[in-house]
Amino acid sequence: MTEVIDGEAVAADVRADVADRVELLEHAGVTPGLATVLMSDDAASETYVSMKQRDCEEVGIEGIHVEIDPDAPASELYGTIDDLNDRDDVHGILVQLPVPEHVDTRQVLRRIDPEKDVDGFHPENVGRLVAGDARFKPCTPHGVQKLLEAYDVETEGADAVVVGRSDIVGKPMANLLIQKGPGGNATTTVCHSRTRDLEAKLSNADIVVAAAGIPEFVDGSMLKPGATVIDVGINKVDAETEKGYALVGDVDYDSASEVAGAITPVPGGVGPMTRAMLLYNTVKAAGIRHDVDVGLR
Ligand code: NAD
Repeated sequence: MTEVIDGEAVAADVRADVADRVELLEHAGVTPGLATVLMSDDAASETYVSMKQRDCEEVGIEGIHVEIDPDAPASELYGTIDDLNDRDDVHGILVQLPVPEHVDTRQVLRRIDPEKDVDGFHPENVGRLVAGDARFKPCTPHGVQKLLEAYDVETEGADAVVVGRSDIVGKPMANLLIQKGPGGNATTTVCHSRTRDLEAKLSNADIVVAAAGIPEFVDGSMLKPGATVIDVGINKVDAETEKGYALVGDVDYDSASEVAGAITPVPGGVGPMTRAMLLYNTVKAAGIRHDVDVGLR
């Protein structure tokens, strides 16, 4: 029987744990604060940010939200980041990506104080992750690692294939899987758009993390029987639903679930974990700033 990995349940556990640690901070007189910055009128981005704010409220994190007109000059966003860097009540800063084309994403990511960079995208934090001394693990791959741990999926010595090499998902995912220690020690192959014979790589994988952004790209015929399949993809496809579309992952769930040992659904798999790990990083950031041991590594 294929086990369905319940991201909603594991994320609820992470949130409950984070809420306990918020109490530790409160005892020390600290209220953790997360600032979200939105410079976009994209409906999906608006939804993501409002969900993040709602999550904050649920666990006792103070949410601060700043909206910037997408047509405003880039300097307005940079100035906002500078202000948030200076604020004592802000422990985490998240600029919702993508930003408009006239704004340089790299500059945005470099401008955020690395100690408030709860997305883990600042080069200093990327470097620390690669060096095996992560301060903030990027939320999506960290969430995947937590799911594997929650379902006792052995990574040590496992053959893992990550499909996708983005800075947000693929690369940090591979970096986490190869680190020494729990949730790591996997022999990890990173596949991408120029990979030759993806099928051969997948057919040997004990763990597959699909993050290519292509609807239902990985199907059951490509998988090793019993593999653990983590579907990061969220793709909008036309469908005869009320909204006129449906959300599907990068894995063809029906065929994959006949072969896999365990699999994440979309929605309800990785998505809720990404949100939960943002709360985790924010509380960790507040602990670091105020020298309170909240017990998050
Ligand atoms: P991206 O577009 O930045 O990267 C996609 C990667 O897939 C690229 O590195 C590319 O080389 C690779 N790729 C493209 N075609 C390929 C092919 N034919 N074979 C192998 N690799 C191929 O996307 P991203 O930001 O990494 O996101 C990936 C997916 O995950 C998207 O569907 C996105 O919406 C989703 N996502 C979900 C969450 C979540 O919380 N669940 C978070 C971030 C992203």
